Amino acid sequence: MTEAWHPEDDEPRGASGPVRVRVPAKVNLHLGVGPLRRDGYHELNTVYHAISIYDELTARRGDTLTLTMEGEGTGELALDDSNLVLRAAHALAGYAGVMPHARLHLRKQIPLAGGLAGGSADAAAALVACDALWGTGLSRDELAGIAADLGSDVPFLIHGGTALGTGRGEAVSPVLARPTSWHWVVAIADGGLSTPQAYRELDRLRETGAAGPPLGSTDALLAALRQRDPRVLATTLGNDLQDAALAMRPALAATLKAGEAAGALAGIVSGSGPTCVFLTADAADAERVAAELEAAEVCRQARTAHGPVPGARIT
Ligand code: ATP
Repeated sequence: MTEAWHPEDDEPRGASGPVRVRVPAKVNLHLGVGPLRRDGYHELNTVYHAISIYDELTARRGDTLTLTMEGEGTGELALDDSNLVLRAAHALAGYAGVMPHARLHLRKQIPLAGGLAGGSADAAAALVACDALWGTGLSRDELAGIAADLGSDVPFLIHGGTALGTGRGEAVSPVLARPTSWHWVVAIADGGLSTPQAYRELDRLRETGAAGPPLGSTDALLAALRQRDPRVLATTLGNDLQDAALAMRPALAATLKAGEAAGALAGIVSGSGPTCVFLTADAADAERVAAELEAAEVCRQARTAHGPVPGARIT
């Protein structure tokens, strides 16, 4: 039996109009750094949490692959093939066997090298946007597989929510908790910190006995997430990279102190810093703490955010 011919068979697959994807920043509620592995990565035991500060990537059909941007990092961030957006587009095209043709535009709100995984977020957004634009129709798990080769945090930013990360952070499993919104203040610093340098600094502090004891298990934090009480969660937040970030940027100690003095329940350095995040009791407290942090001039900008929120999604 011959199949009927449909005129749309000759049409290109995928979207004809622009595809817009929104992707969140991440914080680590628990960042346990284990030993250095033979492949140069550290073994991690982390709880990722996606918060409502977003980058947005728009993908349109084009005859070549191009990237333009606006917002945070414009003029600083290279728009060549070293950019994670273009690396992600090439990786997807290679996997799916399609030409990597698209006009991509990035609207960036996540600060560069801020410890909020902005570059990883943009890579996740590019995978989701190009998959829709090119009609490659990969499953979330297939996208997460490509994502893992692009960076340890990229798979989490495809999924979003709150999730446990193991291995070098790329093995992600969702944390199931009753729906709760946690309220955060995000204190953005001037300038960034290099993630590899923060890990090297932690190794150095550990060798000289100057680092605090490692965090260990995530059990207390996972139990606190289930209790839905921010005062309990506040006692379980932790980051093994915090000592390293403070050694590299001593001024962050004043930021952490100012947030707690303003009424935050707890403050920690986010990832490798220099962004600091503060847990607050509710949305109104978050507004108050953000205003006080800005008035105290201990950061470039203080923003309120809530989490968990979904990962890279078409809007
Ligand atoms: P992480 O928490 O994942 O270590 P981070 O938040 O500290 O990352 P990012 O903003 O993700 O830092 O970027 C780290 C580096 O990645 C930048 O300094 C830049 O050189 C490179 N990079 C490549 N593409 C991007 C992108 N689209 N956005 C941001 N950084 C990018």
